[in-house]
Amino acid sequence: MSKVALITHITGQDGSYLAELLLKKGYTVHGIGGNVVPHNTGNAGSNFHDKSSDLHIYTYADISTGTARDLLAIIRPDEVYNLGGAGQLSENSDSADDLFSTGEFSALKVLEAIRILGLETKTRYYHASPSALCSLVNGIAINEMVSLNIYPSWYATGISDFWTIVNYRETFGLYACSGILFNHESPRRSENFVTRKITRSLANITQGLEKCLHLGNLNALRDWGHARDYVKMQWLMLQQDNPEDFVVATGVQYTVRQFVTFAALELGIKLRFVGKGVEEKGIITAIISPVAAALKVGDVIVAVDPRYIRPAEACKVNVNPTKARRKLGWAPETSLQDMVIEMVQADLACAKKAARL
Ligand code: GDP
Repeated sequence: MSKVALITHITGQDGSYLAELLLKKGYTVHGIGGNVVPHNTGNAGSNFHDKSSDLHIYTYADISTGTARDLLAIIRPDEVYNLGGAGQLSENSDSADDLFSTGEFSALKVLEAIRILGLETKTRYYHASPSALCSLVNGIAINEMVSLNIYPSWYATGISDFWTIVNYRETFGLYACSGILFNHESPRRSENFVTRKITRSLANITQGLEKCLHLGNLNALRDWGHARDYVKMQWLMLQQDNPEDFVVATGVQYTVRQFVTFAALELGIKLRFVGKGVEEKGIITAIISPVAAALKVGDVIVAVDPRYIRPAEACKVNVNPTKARRKLGWAPETSLQDMVIEMVQADLACAKKAARL
């Protein structure tokens, strides 16, 4: 008999890739639609190409209410992937507005439902935890991490969910674990996040739909992987003999400026950055593809806008993802450059379509 999975936020970036992966593996997939994707645009809206009869989506269900129990009682899933937690939010200010739509404290509701329904030995639970919790897992600097004055409100949710999962694992013997996934992107990423903002905006600029890409801290370093690779880790985490938490990342960091440079090159634009701080600008030094033929050398297409500079954030994140490689044999398959190409080409197709309208 095929395995049954329940995915929350199935319409989001990770949920849609995970659903595709599980359907390919022969699972019956039940999904709860999410509403964290309103910032998604263009190609990201059409996440579901698979109209498989093994796929069932409940648009209006909400995992953080009593629905969790009702749904679990009917579906009796082998695996629950709770992607609706704070783990998928960014530190950027827009995200705070979404606190009530992130299934806050949902780990408790789902795990308790699993326990009450007597599904402890059947149902395995995966939880997307915010990457800011990494220091908890590595056992370092807890006091420096917990700076409640700085971190947005959803951070408290993440901490609560993380320890709830540890508690249910140790006290009730449930198979439950947290995946601490660092930045993972794709053409389905919301524009709330810097990578998609960059690829979409630069694609729009080549088609005359925008003039300039306005960003915050260009020096910020991030470890960016492809969401399609990362959902494989989510699945692998539920296939082990014993549940464990894992950090997922590539181990390689790039600056926002480098990401812009790679994306511009894919569009046939060579850029030079001049100036410092809020005065920094990205100026075109050469056009090397007909895609960008409408632009000219000397055009300023990247500028810093202080509104996007965060008052306090981790500008550099040192991640050690070797446990995933060592224990699960997982390694990212998509290079940053290949991911940039995929994102740029998807956004370019949308921009060309929009320019024709
Ligand atoms: P995060 O790592 O979850 O905060 O993911 P983001 O994609 O939102 O941000 C990644 C980095 O890009 C952070 O260091 C931001 O400060 C930086 N950044 C620079 N300009 C922007 C911008 O315009 N929007 C966003 N979202 N981030 C920006």
